[in-house]
Amino acid sequence: DMATSKPKTVIVGGGIGGCTAAIALHRAGADVWIYESASQLLEIGAGINVQAVAIGVLIDLGIPLERFNDPAQGDGILTSKVEYYSTDGVFIADEAVGLAAGAENPQMSVHRAKFHNTLIAECRRLLGEERVILNSAFVGMETVGDQTTVHFKTNTTGEPAPSVTCDFVLGCDGLKSRVRAALLGEVLPRYTGRTIYRGLCHLDKMHGDGNTVALCGDETGNFICYPISESKRRDGHYHCNWGFNATRPEPGGVESWVSVVTLDQIQDELAAMDGNTFGGFTPLQMAQRTEKIIGWALFDRDPLDTFDFGCTTLLGDAAHPLLPYGSQGATQAIMDAEAIGMCYQDAMEAGTGIRGCVKAYSEMRCEVSGKVVIANRNMGSTAVLREVNQKCKDMTRAEKEAYCKENGGKLAEEVIQTYRKAMPKSVRPVRKVKPAE
Ligand SMILES: Cc1cc2nc3c(=O)[nH]c(=O)nc-3n(C[C@H](O)[C@H](O)[C@H](O)COP(=O)(O)OP(=O)(O)OC[C@H]3O[C@@H](n4cnc5c(N)ncnc54)[C@H](O)[C@@H]3O)c2cc1C
Repeated sequence: DMATSKPKTVIVGGGIGGCTAAIALHRAGADVWIYESASQLLEIGAGINVQAVAIGVLIDLGIPLERFNDPAQGDGILTSKVEYYSTDGVFIADEAVGLAAGAENPQMSVHRAKFHNTLIAECRRLLGEERVILNSAFVGMETVGDQTTVHFKTNTTGEPAPSVTCDFVLGCDGLKSRVRAALLGEVLPRYTGRTIYRGLCHLDKMHGDGNTVALCGDETGNFICYPISESKRRDGHYHCNWGFNATRPEPGGVESWVSVVTLDQIQDELAAMDGNTFGGFTPLQMAQRTEKIIGWALFDRDPLDTFDFGCTTLLGDAAHPLLPYGSQGATQAIMDAEAIGMCYQDAMEAGTGIRGCVKAYSEMRCEVSGKVVIANRNMGSTAVLREVNQKCKDMTRAEKEAYCKENGGKLAEEVIQTYRKAMPKSVRPVRKVKPAE
């Protein structure tokens, strides 16, 4: 039986990174099993932006765009533009993104759960239902030679679950990765001094063409909102995902990293942004129309020197947690997944095995993803808000408007486009290029 002679791959964590890696590895011929700690895949999380380069990876992996965009399926928005405003509502600059920027594929603003569901469904279809195993939390592993035995517990009961012996372990278990802890020891991520408050609301008017991301604020507090439902957009409505990134002291224990909060915790800071309206609504009015506001304390880790741990590696947030500037979290996880699939196929063809695959993957992705971690510490493209705030500190509104009118284009080039151009490229074209005749 061919299947049993293939190296067995265990993916720990079936998030966006783990699912995409499973699809890429399956396409590369691997024998893949996903172990996910959640007992059910709940509709959690709010909106995320997925960059054009990552949508290109998914399409290349055989998932048609309609699955993400069709109103009856992923219902995602084909994002065309990002706009930047000061705290008091002065327009600074905008940037075309995705197809509007001439990319081969669209950038997408999506509901995280719908996007994730599309990937999970594709995993189940390709791998088979029985290879997507829920309610199984990684608790530890031992490697002897080229074989690793992985231990799990049943999440809902805490009881030990059967262990699995395999040839390749891929830790895709997110910010608080247990695989990472098993490899590198127990090191808690560092609090960044920032917390992001997020919510979803329905508005009966669109902002602009209904495909636009808008940001306002400065380095101490900034607000982002964007539409995440194509079906609502077609009705002229705005299913709005918003986030307010605020300066906050360190929260108590690990359990308070994510918590439901009340509006009064952010009300005054949002009111200071009343000069901004998107689809006719101020940031505060959006928050007032939001049923549930969730605060996420933001944590950071230093980039790793290597992703090469022999027959084990890390991917996505487990490898490189990213601060939410410039919309790179899901994108970089998807690009890791693209690389692991390609490295697996190359290694099998070259006969260098799992160790060869992991080494090549580390070389392809460790340094470049580390650069995104560092760039995002400096606010990513959102740094343009800080630039304007600092330059215009003592100006009247009229002076600020004149300043932004004169310098907006230059700032867009120097801050926003410099960041965008520094983002990792897909590794795929390297392979696609045909040798010259
Ligand atoms: C519930 C949730 C909501 C989110 N909401 C947003 C959002 O609204 N906006 C945004 O920009 N980003 C959000 N993110 C983060 C974003 O999805 C990630 O940054 C990005 O997709 C990279 O994903 P990842 O697959 O590396 O990690 P994650 O998305 O964190 O996925 C990790 C997966 O591993 C599983 N896992 C964890 N520990 C174990 C274990 N011990 N054993 C087995 N499995 C384990 C988790 O249940 C999860 O499914 C959210 C993440 C999660 C988990």
